[in-house]
Amino acid sequence: MLYRNEAHIVYVGVGSNLGDSRQICQQAIALLGSHTMEVQACSSFYRSTPVGYSPQPHFLNAVVKLHTNLPPLKLLARLKAVEKQLGKDIKIRWGPRTIDLDILMYDNLIIDKESLQVPHPRMHTRSFVMLPLVELAPQLIHPVWEMSMRELLEQLENPTECIKVES
Ligand code: ADP
Ligand code: MG
Repeated sequence: MLYRNEAHIVYVGVGSNLGDSRQICQQAIALLGSHTMEVQACSSFYRSTPVGYSPQPHFLNAVVKLHTNLPPLKLLARLKAVEKQLGKDIKIRWGPRTIDLDILMYDNLIIDKESLQVPHPRMHTRSFVMLPLVELAPQLIHPVWEMSMRELLEQLENPTECIKVES
């Protein structure tokens, strides 16, 4: 159980394009909901065309809203532990992965460390992040760009194919 007055609001991007992606994403979301974190909401799933490195399967993507007492670096460590548990083993940057968990937003904090940048520095350029995020939080203000997530989605320069999957 979390102490409400200490809970931080976090948005996490979930992606997978190896194995049974639907099941792996669902497992990841279930693991995120254990002990120190509570899942508040989950977007629809989206099937998206790979960005950055093309000869690889389509991705399944979603965004979850969490409450947590973990500070940012501890949260990152927890996400990496879940990734490891689900067998993440990346050989190519932006290449195929069983699971990818990215911190998109942590309250309205701006963090710029080598190991952690928040808001995620490429989130506003990615259809597969902004579409599910806007489903959950269209009015949420990006603390760097000082625009709502809906505005950022509308301004996205190179939208890529990203289709909502029937649940
Ligand atoms: P990708 O950039 O494709 O997500 P990885 O998942 O392998 O690649 O992440 C590489 C590193 O990115 C992680 O080890 C982590 O330290 C760093 N990183 C920086 N900012 C973030 C963030 N907001 N969320 C998750 N990882 C981040
Ligand atoms: Mg990642």
